[in-house]
Order: sequence, then structure tokens, then C-alpha cells
Amino acid sequence: MAKCVGRELVEAKGVDVDRLLNALVERALAELGNYYYFTLVRIHLLGVDGEALRRIIEQVREQDRHHFEMLVPRIYELGGRLPETVEQELGALGALRVLPAEADVPSILPIVLRAAEESVHAYTDLCMMTAGKDRHTYNLALAIRRDEIQHQVRFLEMLGRGAAEPRLQTSADILLSVAQIGPPIPSVGIARA
Ligand code: ZN
Repeated sequence: MAKCVGRELVEAKGVDVDRLLNALVERALAELGNYYYFTLVRIHLLGVDGEALRRIIEQVREQDRHHFEMLVPRIYELGGRLPETVEQELGALGALRVLPAEADVPSILPIVLRAAEESVHAYTDLCMMTAGKDRHTYNLALAIRRDEIQHQVRFLEMLGRGAAEPRLQTSADILLSVAQIGPPIPSVGIARA
């Protein structure tokens, strides 16, 4: 690999940059995949008794597209790159890939909730991987993680309104996990979604 200053700086702090890049590329593809699948979900919900969920999904979908665009520059700063094609990767992306062709709110909610949960876990891992070592990536991952937790909370709230059985973490558990990760590290400006 050609010399890359961004990579060397982070490597000097003890980060396994190849592992970090794999995780960042995987996240970028996951965000793109979520955008794609949320587009499908949104279409499935048209005309169905799912206007409230459709509005949430529309916002989540836009945020995930934004997350993709936030991640890409960091991948290249670290000397990484996105794959030439994403056909296979898009087919292997997390919970949303099992989206039924036709679905109502009770069957869609657990799927989108699981997808949000997967995202929170993935960004938690990224925060752990970079805490104290790569301030830029840490703050990026933390900012996106905050959005993903919000997505999770919004889907959980919908579940709480009786669309399906409650499952997964409670909001209190989620807030606790935020406290465990810690605050953003100051002095690097990361645009919030
Ligand atoms: Zn996202």
C-alpha cells in the first residue's frame, strides 16, 4: 500500500488500521444498503396502515445516506477504498435483507428494529476500537452511533404502542450504554447528522 499520512498517524497510536478500515467499509456498505432497503420498505408501506412508520423510515433512510457520506472520506483519509462493485455486499447486509416482499407494520417493525440494533453494536465496536487512539474516527463513529440509538428508540416507541411484542433493550439500557462509551473528544469538528 502506498504511504498514507493519515494511516501512519493512527497506526503510530496503536490502531490496527486494516481491521479499522474493514469495519469502516463494512459500515459504509451497510449504510448504503440500509438506504436501499429502507427505500423498499417505504414503498411497501405506501397505502398500508403505516403512515407513522413510513414517516420515521423516511427520516432514518435520509440519515443513513448521510452516514454513508460521512464515512467515505475517513476511509480514504486512512488509505482505504470502497470496493469496485457492491453487488455481493449489498446482498449480505444485516437484518434488512430478510425484508419480506410484501409486509405490514407488525412484520416490518421487528426487522427495522433489529437493523438499528445491529448498527448501534457496530458503531459501539468502532468507538471501542478507536477510543484514545484515533480521535477523528472515534468522534465520527460516536456521532453516527447517537443517530442509530435514536432510530432504535423511535422503533421501540412504535413497538410500545402495540404494533408487536416488545423485545430488545429498554431505553434505560440504551442510555446506560451511551454513558459507558463516553463523550466526544473535543477539538475535532465533526458535522452532526
Ligand atoms: Zn446509519
